[in-house]
Amino acid sequence: MWQVIGQNRVVSLLQRSLEKGIVAHAYLLTGPPHVGKVTVALNLAQALNCEATAPPCGECSTCQKIASGKHADVQIIGLTSDGNSDKSKPRKEISIEQIREMEHSASLPPFEGKCKIFIIDKAELLSIEAANCLLKTLEEPTGNVIFTLLATNEKFLPATVISRCQRLELSPVPTAEIEAALNDRWSVEPQKAKLISRLCHGCPGWAISAATDDSLLQQRVERLDELTDIINADYEERFAYANQMATQFSQNRSLVQEVLDLWLDYWRDLLLVRIGSSDIITSVDRLATLTEMAKECNLAQIKAFINSIQAAKEQLRLNANPRLVLEVLMLSIPEKERRSGRTPLPNLR
Ligand SMILES: [Zn+2]
Repeated sequence: MWQVIGQNRVVSLLQRSLEKGIVAHAYLLTGPPHVGKVTVALNLAQALNCEATAPPCGECSTCQKIASGKHADVQIIGLTSDGNSDKSKPRKEISIEQIREMEHSASLPPFEGKCKIFIIDKAELLSIEAANCLLKTLEEPTGNVIFTLLATNEKFLPATVISRCQRLELSPVPTAEIEAALNDRWSVEPQKAKLISRLCHGCPGWAISAATDDSLLQQRVERLDELTDIINADYEERFAYANQMATQFSQNRSLVQEVLDLWLDYWRDLLLVRIGSSDIITSVDRLATLTEMAKECNLAQIKAFINSIQAAKEQLRLNANPRLVLEVLMLSIPEKERRSGRTPLPNLR
């Protein structure tokens, strides 16, 4: 049984190829982070090596070894791959040495299985030399060796490499399918499964991490609490927060982008509650707060602030001054008449 959640089109295509015995020598799996690329690649490796009559069975020793990363003929090459001599410096790209090592291993017959599988994770991070080296390997396919490239941003991969692979696109998985899988396969309690399946934006990998590691949900709660505090704070506090975020941005850009993504989700929810569609919001655990807020903001204000968050994200991506961008964002938070005690900002209205 294929373990991946959703991806029925990709799975049935691969299943048909396996049944007909016409498996490609190289695949490119594309899709957003955590959508299931690694799982599909490992399931394919299982299907090609499984000992059962209906592969991948997921239960034979081969399937289990592959799932736990202990099969000698299935290797994952990526930034965390072994062979990084200086562990203190994290890799930024997949090096030509890694690809040469892989080629050497590919030239040897399978050690314990029927077929050798090399999975190149985050293939868009191949260095130019590594990609050229890989291209030569892909141009000269050898029997019982299969390469599976995984990429989120395939535009960073050379077109020549892409053209040598059978390309399979993995799409975000419907919320209901993820919720059912969390309930049935991971025994997550229904309320939590409902929340996580909405938060993961169609990416089951994130959902499973959140179901098994409480710190992810805890971090979200802290960030949302911070957000509601800022909405109710005065300008001085908001500017202090903007300053703090700008400092964070210089150390970890993706963290600030994550916070802004969370803000976007939250204000989108507010918009949905405001128009009476609260049944499809993401933050189901914040419905009461959102309902209260929706009474105090009009639709135009909510839409304008959503645009401001999107503009801030884009400006940060384009390397604008982070402090300035975030301060402007703080000034764009909709004002509510009911608030009292707020220091009015002079000359702005
Ligand atoms: Zn098996």
